[in-house]
Parts: sequence; structure tokens; C-alpha cells
Amino acid sequence: MKNKILVTGGAGYIGSHTCIALHQAGYDIVVYDNLSNSSREAVNRVSSLIGQPIEFIEGDIRDAESLRQVFAEHQFFGVIHFAGLKAVGESVAQPLKYYDNNVSGTITLLEVMAEYDVKNLVFSSSATVYGDPERLPIDENSPRSCTNPYGQSKLTVEHILEDLAVSDESWNLIPLRYFNPVGAHPSGQIGEDPNDIPNNLMPYISQVAVGKLEKLSIFGNDYSTVDGTGVRDFIHVTDLAQGHVAALSYLEQQAVPVGFLPINLGTGKGTSVLELVTAFSEVSGEDIPYQFADRRAGDIASCYASADKAKDLLKWQAELSITEMCQDTWRWQSMNPNGYNAT
Ligand code: NAD
Ligand code: UDP
Repeated sequence: MKNKILVTGGAGYIGSHTCIALHQAGYDIVVYDNLSNSSREAVNRVSSLIGQPIEFIEGDIRDAESLRQVFAEHQFFGVIHFAGLKAVGESVAQPLKYYDNNVSGTITLLEVMAEYDVKNLVFSSSATVYGDPERLPIDENSPRSCTNPYGQSKLTVEHILEDLAVSDESWNLIPLRYFNPVGAHPSGQIGEDPNDIPNNLMPYISQVAVGKLEKLSIFGNDYSTVDGTGVRDFIHVTDLAQGHVAALSYLEQQAVPVGFLPINLGTGKGTSVLELVTAFSEVSGEDIPYQFADRRAGDIASCYASADKAKDLLKWQAELSITEMCQDTWRWQSMNPNGYNAT
């Protein structure tokens, strides 16, 4: 058995897929999640997929006492920290909730990690920290800026991690800046399960395809892109999960601390909204009715990663195509039209 890892937010979309990848790579895992945006059923399904129960603790990262109990009971090599709120619109309406959960929660987690001398952290950051990029593809040295409280909470945590690394050289802090995670586990058992009407493109498309939503609105067809619609770097969630395994493995191999080491997780390729709609329609055999609508406030035209740093340092690169992203999303959506809620 390899090292033991605490996975905060491990019941969520990316966390649940990463738990499977960690288990397959031989890690022992403990999931810590308050289920504020996920369900116990996701953890049960991960347990079935890996063929053994997952150690699950229902708890909040802002609860230092609860975290202390977990750290006292287990000897962790490190923490993969997914726990956080992620809805941009909600963050604009309720900024304090976002700063409290995402920033204060992370500070509490870091304090408890320090108490127990656990100094390895992989943090879920986002390409949103790059704001409107000056150049493409976006590399890790690009300037950072954010316009909404969700993005600010990610950027603030990054600044905190940078300061922490300066203050104490024994920390190893890797913010992984995800581009646009989509897709689902190939079994169709786990996937993205938005609470309300999805804000993100791929779950919206798949709910139109399955007949839950009537029509997709494409926000803007006048960007200077290949077809006027927005361009993003969609990355399959199982590739993303492998990126976390690669980051941990990298930390295990280092003789000296790495300090603060941000790394993009993307494919390096841009796909337009219309291209994704067409690919999904072909894969599913379903019509995806759409209409063009105004640009969405705060959106940028194009965003795709330079994936070189992950390849050089982590020996990781995304493998799965847009077709596979659509196939796996469609399998999950059609097998679970109501997500984790029983039909
Ligand atoms: P998710 O909402 O499915 O998962 C987050 C999990 O964290 C949920 O299970 C939720 O219950 C839990 N959680 C939230 N606040 C908590 C708290 N205070 N204490 C304990 N658990 C808490 O989201 P996801 O898509 O899996 O995203 C995981 C992480 O990656 C988040 O931090 C998110 O901001 C970040 N991220 C996501 C995307 C994306 O498009 N999905 C892109 C970039 C970054
Ligand atoms: N988008 C869209 N209709 C939707 C949701 C998203 O046209 O219902 C577009 C959005 O304008 C952007 C792209 O799809 O160009 C990706 O949006 P998403 O919210 O999935 O991710 P973002 O990159 O904004 O975080």
C-alpha cells in the first residue's frame, strides 16, 4: 500500500473520479466532504467501482476540531484539496459565503495540516485566475487577475499558498489550474450532477440532448474565433484525475521541497462552443436545438492551456479526445437522467 491521502471534497465531481484514479495507483484514501454540493450516493458508487468501501467522513473544512480528529487518526502523506464552492453567479450574489468557504476553509485546513506536520498539498485552482489572457496558449507565468468572487477566492488562496511557501520552506504546494473539466467515468456510474439548471456548457448540452432542457443558448457568436463562438480547452475528467496522481507522484520523488508550484491541467487545444455541440450531437444521435444569445457578462473569447509544464515536470498529458468526452458524458447522462437522485 502506498501513502495515505486526505481528499477534501472527494464526493464531488472531480474528487470522485480522482478517488478512483488514486485507488488504482495504489494510494490509501480518506474522503472528507460536507456534502453541500454532492451526495453520499457518489461515494457509494465509487466504492462499488473500486470494489471496497471508501473511508468517508462527513465534515466541513472550516471545522478545525473535526479536521484535527481526522489528522490525529491517520498519518497522511498529503492532502488533495477539492472542497470548495464553484458557482460564479452565486459568488457574485453571495461573496461572503464564497470567501468564507473557499478562503477561510482553506486557511483552517492549512493550519491543521501544519499542526500535524503534513506539508504536501495539491489544490484545485482554475484557469479563471488568468482572467482575460494577454496571449494564447496560456502558460503558468501569465499575469493573473479575476473579476468575480469565485475567481478571487481561488486567486487569494494561491497568494496565501505563495506566502506560506516563502515563510516555511518545508511546504510543497501545487495549485493545479484546471481548464474546462467535462466527461464522466466510462462506466457511466459517476459524473457531473448539477443541482439546478447547469451554468456550464457540457452539462447544459447533455440535458438538452436527454430532453430535460428545451434549448441551448449559445452566449455570443461574434467573438473573433473560428466560428464566432467562445473557445475553451475541454479536458476529460479522468485525464484530470490522472493529473492529480501525477502531481502526488512528483511530490513523492522530490528530494527537496518544491515550495509553490502552479501547473496547468489542460489539453492545449481549443474547441468552440459550436464544435462541441456538433460533436455531442453526432455522438448521441440527438438533435441539440440552440439559439444564439448575447454574450454572457464576464466571458472571454478564447482560453486554452500551454500544457508543457505538466508534461515536463509531471510526465502527464491529456489523452482523451472531444469525442470520448462527449461519449462518456452522454453515457452518464442517459443512464442517470436525474443524476444521483433515484428516478
Ligand atoms: P463539486 O462541487 O462537485 O465538488 C466540490 C466538493 O466539495 C463537493 O462535494 C462539496 O460538497 C464539497 N465541499 C464544498 N465546501 C465544503 C466544505 N466547506 N467542507 C467540506 N466539503 C466541502 O465541484 P468540482 O467540479 O468537483 O470541483 C472541485 C474543485 O475544483 C472545486 O474547488 C472547484 O472550484 C475546482 N474547479 C472546478 C472546475 C470545474 O469546472 N468543475 C474548474 C476549475 C476548478
Ligand atoms: N456557454 C454557452 N451556453 C451555456 C453555457 C456556456 O454558450 O449555456 C459558453 C460560454 O459562453 C463559454 C463556454 O460555453 O464560451 C464555456 O462556458 P462554461 O460556463 O462551461 O465554462 P467557463 O469557461 O465559462 O468557465
